[in-house]
Amino acid sequence: MAPTIEPVQTSRDFPASTTVVIIGGGIIGLTAALALSERGIPVVVLEKGRIAGEQSSRNLGWIRKTSRHREDVPLALASDRLWAGMAERVGSDVGYRQSGIMFLAKTDEQLAMHEAWLKSVESLSLDSKLLSAREIDSRVPGGKGEWAGGIFTASDGRAEPSLASSAIAKAAMAKGAVIVENCAVRTVSRSGGKVSGVVTERGEIRCDQALLTGGMWSRRFLGNIGVSLPTLPLILSVFKTAPMEGPTEIAVGGPDFSFRKHKDGGYIITQRGALDAPLLLDHLLVGSRYLGVLRSQRHLLRISLGKHFLRDLALPRRWRAGKSSPFERVRTMDPPVNAGLNDEAQRNLAAAWPVFEQATVESSWAGMIDITPDSNPVIGAVPGVPGLSIASGFSGHGFGTSPAAGQLAADLVAGSEPIIDPTPYRFERF
Ligand SMILES: Cc1cc2nc3c(=O)[nH]c(=O)nc-3n(C[C@H](O)[C@H](O)[C@H](O)COP(=O)(O)OP(=O)(O)OC[C@H]3O[C@@H](n4cnc5c(N)ncnc54)[C@H](O)[C@@H]3O)c2cc1C
Repeated sequence: MAPTIEPVQTSRDFPASTTVVIIGGGIIGLTAALALSERGIPVVVLEKGRIAGEQSSRNLGWIRKTSRHREDVPLALASDRLWAGMAERVGSDVGYRQSGIMFLAKTDEQLAMHEAWLKSVESLSLDSKLLSAREIDSRVPGGKGEWAGGIFTASDGRAEPSLASSAIAKAAMAKGAVIVENCAVRTVSRSGGKVSGVVTERGEIRCDQALLTGGMWSRRFLGNIGVSLPTLPLILSVFKTAPMEGPTEIAVGGPDFSFRKHKDGGYIITQRGALDAPLLLDHLLVGSRYLGVLRSQRHLLRISLGKHFLRDLALPRRWRAGKSSPFERVRTMDPPVNAGLNDEAQRNLAAAWPVFEQATVESSWAGMIDITPDSNPVIGAVPGVPGLSIASGFSGHGFGTSPAAGQLAADLVAGSEPIIDPTPYRFERF
């Protein structure tokens, strides 16, 4: 089950035409809709299930620059500025707090990786700094772990996934955006080679441009029109504790656990050192592009061949606009929780900060992440399909950058000055 989000009353109308159709109502599609509607551009968001029902409600809520690729940091810095003004912009709290993020290193090798990252972003003047074991103890008291050191960025933070997408959706609607739930987009329609509409399960909507923000489904959507977006899925299991006395407001990532405080005083916890990697046909099709990442990250992956493979195989890869699509078959991707990984996280965390021995698990869930070969998203025009743009492939860190990512997508669609240089995100890099 996904964590519940603030309810939003979306539209019952089904418009015949608009200027921009956004395919997918996660936080990226919703922030793009907000940015477009603020400029007076008519926009319709179509969501196959419920808004933020997939990754955007299931994520940890971390907003970080720490450990991002150098070329991805400008997007994160622009997002920090937008998060800071978000509550005022949308007229309600989104849970944003600049409470800092800390990553811990158990070994000298892990610490050397943090040092190398810090060196790689030297010229960007971030406030990230290395910490000694003693400094870790003083910032996060009560610990028993033995750390080689850590890295801390005070200007990193968190927001609440249970609030953010709903607040952004409501603000976009107040500015004129139309959001329709339970409406899968099957494909785009074209005239004269250019996108002229989208075909949905409820009929066609004519539009000048379409923006695909379908998260892990964007690969399948594009595959049906002959475009290969190289993304692969990973599954992360998460649990939340009941409100408790915790050690810090800082979000802390250890090698084999992470925790951050929830607005209700509970903690959101995960096994940071392990992700489920279900093997799919896509691994055969695009897996070779990931060999570089695999070499350095293999130890994080729990690879399996099982139910996911068969379920995925049963979903069509090609379909006609007049026929039901995979998006109607799977309204919400709700992968099973790996209880074993959650148990590991709880044990590892309690060994490091014994206060967590008292934690009561309140709920748990899992989410499927869309990973690209270089872990950066794709934002911009889809090659060979004039009128279609994309913002997808956020590789497990798109909640934090969503305000600027959605705005960048909106800038590119509207043909206005982009909020940051979009070059690192071009589809053509693959
Ligand atoms: C467990 C977990 C923890 C994470 N932790 C963090 C974190 O701490 N910090 C961070 O920055 N990021 C984190 N992330 C990543 C972050 O959640 C995502 O990068 C971000 O939410 C991506 O948003 P999105 O809008 O692209 O995708 P999604 O939220 O997945 O939204 C895509 C939407 O498109 C809809 N859709 C797809 N195809 C169609 C179609 N054809 N027609 C209609 N609708 C369609 C889907 O139903 C879905 O609702 C985490 C992710 C997970 C799963």
